[in-house]
Amino acid sequence: MGGAGDDGPFVGTIQLAPGLREAMTRHALAERPLEACGLLAGSGARAEAFYPTRNAAKSPVRYEIDPQDLLRVTMELEDAGREVWGIFHSHPATPATPSQTDIRLAFYPSAYYLICSLADPVRPVLRAFRIVDGRIAEVEVAGD
Ligand code: ZN
Repeated sequence: MGGAGDDGPFVGTIQLAPGLREAMTRHALAERPLEACGLLAGSGARAEAFYPTRNAAKSPVRYEIDPQDLLRVTMELEDAGREVWGIFHSHPATPATPSQTDIRLAFYPSAYYLICSLADPVRPVLRAFRIVDGRIAEVEVAGD
């Protein structure tokens, strides 16, 4: 099947603050074989902080950010005058493209959706997407 993000040009580039890629990968590996998830704070096209959250679905094929974690992080961000910039999750055994469920449950049109694939655990792949009204567009990921 694949998604629109498999092809086509990038619609932009996001920049990860130093250490973020590693933090997300570490969280993904720690939660394996379950999907891992988390939230990102940032501004503009730059991701500045990663907040690992629990996957309330405790599933290897889908995620649901733990409602308490979501509330806690959202309030923390609001206190700091920030909003949820991005939503991270892992695909423990499949490519880093949004699943149909990911697309259906993408409720934040202004957020970046980051997916880390551990299909090859030695070489995790991180990709980023915008998901708006069921349509996905890939965003290039820069920085480590
Ligand atoms: Zn997914």
